[in-house]
Amino acid sequence: MAQRLTLAALLAALMTVTARAEPIPVVASFSILADFARSVGGDRIAVTALVGPGGDSHVYTPTPADARTVAAARLVIVNGLGFEGWLPRLVKAAGGKATVVEAARGIAPRRAADDDHDHDHDHDHGAIDPHAWQSVANAKTYVVNIRDALIAIDTAGADTYRANATAYLAQLDALDGAVREAIAALPATRRKVISSHDAFGYFTARYGITFIAPQGLSTDAEPSARAVGAIIRQIKRQKIPAVFLENMTDPRLAHRIAAESGARIGGTLYADSLTAENGPAPTYIAMVRHNIKALTDALSE
Ligand SMILES: [Zn+2]
Repeated sequence: MAQRLTLAALLAALMTVTARAEPIPVVASFSILADFARSVGGDRIAVTALVGPGGDSHVYTPTPADARTVAAARLVIVNGLGFEGWLPRLVKAAGGKATVVEAARGIAPRRAADDDHDHDHDHDHGAIDPHAWQSVANAKTYVVNIRDALIAIDTAGADTYRANATAYLAQLDALDGAVREAIAALPATRRKVISSHDAFGYFTARYGITFIAPQGLSTDAEPSARAVGAIIRQIKRQKIPAVFLENMTDPRLAHRIAAESGARIGGTLYADSLTAENGPAPTYIAMVRHNIKALTDALSE
């Protein structure tokens, strides 16, 4: 009897050790969500990003390995707002059992400006803009949704997730303030830039720099010659100071627009993806700080 109890106690101890050593498998659709999840989950979870650093989530094609990763995950974190059009098929291919949480849930969706510059192609009039993370205020909603989703699948970790999220949300509050201050210091007449695709609408709504982009909300189609011509004329007319490259889109278009308009290349903005660990934007906070420095360097004076 005593021997059996000892054995049972030993087994229980072993199971506890195993439980602690095995982090919970969590999948994030792209690198920015993976960073939020790691910030909240710490070492209780092991996060895999399907679209890794430098990848373009708009046009991603999932692999059979992705289906296996999703099938093994306890939680799948996605942006929502129509960003990951390829995701429903992937979840189905994985067996359809994954718990999926939309990190942008609760954020008021922004719609694309119904602009008049070009009606030759079928760009998405009034389409929902998925890039809500570009406002730090929205990033806080992402973090709260991820925290609650982690608590729902792992109640034993609730205190850890709450504490980590609270600390990270305080960092995001400080970041939001830093962005506001940096933009407020820029001359009002220079708060206008060209980016490649329309990824900064939520940033504009919160912080007040206007972004004009030859490509629409997605990267899946080339802009028409007329749209590019209209932007070049707009740069000249409004003396827009800088054209920015993006880390996950083809730089040739931005270079051409800069060359033909006389605007300078302002550097690279990180729109829909982080960099690898050794790059300038390995985390969301580093990404926002990098973007703000690039914008203020190009627009101050
Ligand atoms: Zn995008």
